[in-house]
Amino acid sequence: MPDSKPRFLMCICTGQCPGFSKLDLWGLINMVRNELDVEYAVVHPQLCVEDGDRFLQDYIKPGERYIIGACDPVMQRKMFKDAFAQVGGNFDAQVIPLDLRNMETPEAFKKVKETVESLNE
Ligand code: SF4
Repeated sequence: MPDSKPRFLMCICTGQCPGFSKLDLWGLINMVRNELDVEYAVVHPQLCVEDGDRFLQDYIKPGERYIIGACDPVMQRKMFKDAFAQVGGNFDAQVIPLDLRNMETPEAFKKVKETVESLNE
């Protein structure tokens, strides 16, 4: 297991998607960065389009772990695995994809918290 803590990356689906209308984005991000054992927490508006790929290719470091809060985990894998592979990463080995759609903030935070705790056990 790497020494560093997981990075939390939240994709908010442009901010316009009804799937995230119940979520207080900044409330969630601040709780994750302040209360959980993560390296940091960041937000991207739309990871599954071309600038999202470019961002991932700039951002990913092989060996680090990422928790991505976004949409369906199967879709995340389809959409992000090539960007990881192109910079020597491995989506399956490095990412815990979480579906945080249609959740109130406390429920989304609980899901992220449980994931961080399971990684740091
Ligand atoms: S990765 Fe998922 S949550 Fe993010 S913009 Fe694309 S469809 Fe929306």
